Amino acid sequence: LSERLNKAFKNISGQGKLTEKNMNDMLKEVRMSLLEADVNYEVVKSFVENVKEKALGQEVLDSLNPSQMVVKIVHDELQVLLGEEDARIHFKKQGMTTVMMVGLQGTGKTTASAKIANYCKNKLARRVLLVACDVVRPAAIEQLQTLGKSIDVEVFTCGPETSAVETARQALAYAKDRQKDLVIFDTAGRLHIDEALMQELQQMKDLVVPDEILLTVDAMTGQDIVTVAKEFNEQLSVTGLIVTKMDGDARGGGLLSVRSITNVPVLFVSNGEKVDDLEEFHPDRMADRILGMGDIVTLVEQAQDKLDIEVQKKTAERMKQGVFTFNDLLAQLGQVSKMGSMQKMMNMIPGINKVAKNLDDEKMNSQMKKSEAIILSMTEYERENPSCLKASRKNRIAKGAGVKVMDVNRLINQLEQMQMMTKMMSGKVKLPDMAALQN
Ligand code: GDP
Ligand code: MG
Repeated sequence: LSERLNKAFKNISGQGKLTEKNMNDMLKEVRMSLLEADVNYEVVKSFVENVKEKALGQEVLDSLNPSQMVVKIVHDELQVLLGEEDARIHFKKQGMTTVMMVGLQGTGKTTASAKIANYCKNKLARRVLLVACDVVRPAAIEQLQTLGKSIDVEVFTCGPETSAVETARQALAYAKDRQKDLVIFDTAGRLHIDEALMQELQQMKDLVVPDEILLTVDAMTGQDIVTVAKEFNEQLSVTGLIVTKMDGDARGGGLLSVRSITNVPVLFVSNGEKVDDLEEFHPDRMADRILGMGDIVTLVEQAQDKLDIEVQKKTAERMKQGVFTFNDLLAQLGQVSKMGSMQKMMNMIPGINKVAKNLDDEKMNSQMKKSEAIILSMTEYERENPSCLKASRKNRIAKGAGVKVMDVNRLINQLEQMQMMTKMMSGKVKLPDMAALQN
C-alpha cells in the first residue's frame, strides 16, 4: 500500500520543493553535525552557505524527497571540498623520484614512510630506498630498519652521528648508484613547530629538491591539525597530505578542514599500525564516510520529521482559529506517504475518523488520489477561498484533474464539513449546535 501511496502522492509529498524555511532547518542539523565531527568553524560556515545556494529553489528530483535532495547536495559539496579528483604521487617520467616526509612527532611519518614504500613496491613495481633522516632519536633509525625488513625494502642510514642533511646527501648518491627510482626520506619531528626543525627541513629540501613533500597529519588532533598544517605548508610548500590514524574515532572532520584550508590534496589515508593499513584517498568515498559517520543522513531525516510536525502544528493553529482550507487539506494528505497508513492520517483530521471506518483502503486510496488531483488543479486563491468556486471554475478544475464536476462538488462538500468541524472546535459555532449535531 505504502508504495502505491508514494506513487500517488509523489507530486505533493512533503512540500515538493526546497524552501528557504525547510532548508534552514535541515542545514542547521548539517551544521551541527559537521561541527560535532570537528570540522573547522570557518569551513563549516562557507560549506553551509554553498549548500544553501545550490539547493534553494531546486526542484525535487523524481525519486528524491527534499531531505534526500539536501543529503545529495551535501554529499556532492563534501566531495568538492575534499578534492574532486583522486590525487596520486607524481613520479618523474624517468629516473629517480624523491619524496620527503614531514610532520610533527608522533603523527606517523616513519610508519607512513614504510607504508608508502610498501605500496609503491608492490603496486607500482618501484625500486624503493628508505632513508633514515630522523637522527634526533636513535630509536627512530631502528624503527625504520625494522619496518624496512618487514616489507623487504632497503633502508639507508649513516647512524645517529651524521646530520640529517648529510645523510640525505649520501643517500642520494647511493640511490643513484643502485638505480633506485623512488627515494623516501623519513625526517625528524618535534612536539611543536620550531625554528630548528624548519631550518633542518628547509636545508634538506634545498638539497634534495623533492618531487613531493608529504605532510602527515594526525586525524585525532582535532582543530589543531589546521594550524599545524598551515604552518608547514607556508614554510615548505607541502604537495600532499597523509591523514593518519583514521582508524581511531576521528570523524573525518580534521581531514575535511585541513584539505579545505590548505588546499593541498590528500594522497593517502592511514588507518592502522600495520604496514598494509594504507588507503588511496578517494574524495567520493570519504564524502560517504563523513556523511555516515556524522550521521547527517539521520539528522536530516529527523529534521524532515520536525518539519512534518510543524506542518501539523500550523494546521492545528489555523483550525483553532476556525480556518480550514484546501491548502490545509493538501498538507494533511501530503503526510500520508510519510505516515504509511491511511488510518493514522485519517485520525489526524478531526471528524473524519468516523467516515474512515466505513471505507476500505482500496476505495480510500483512489478517493484520495482524486482529491489530490482536484486540489492541485486549483489556483492558490481558490484553495484559500473555496467560496469563490462557482460553475466555471469547477468546470476548469474538473477538466484539469481529469474528474467529473460531481467529484469537485463532493470534495467541496467534504471541505465544508471539515470547516464546520473546525468552527465547532474553535468555539465559533455555539455549543447547542454541536449538541444538536450529536443527537
Ligand atoms: P612519527 O614520529 O611521525 O614518525 O610517528 P610514528 O610513525 O613513529 O608513529 C607514532 C605512533 O603512531 C606509532 O605507535 C605508530 O604505530 C602509530 N601510528 C602511526 N600511524 C597510525 C595509524 O594510521 N593508526 C594507528 N592506530 N596508529 C598509527
Ligand atoms: Mg619517526
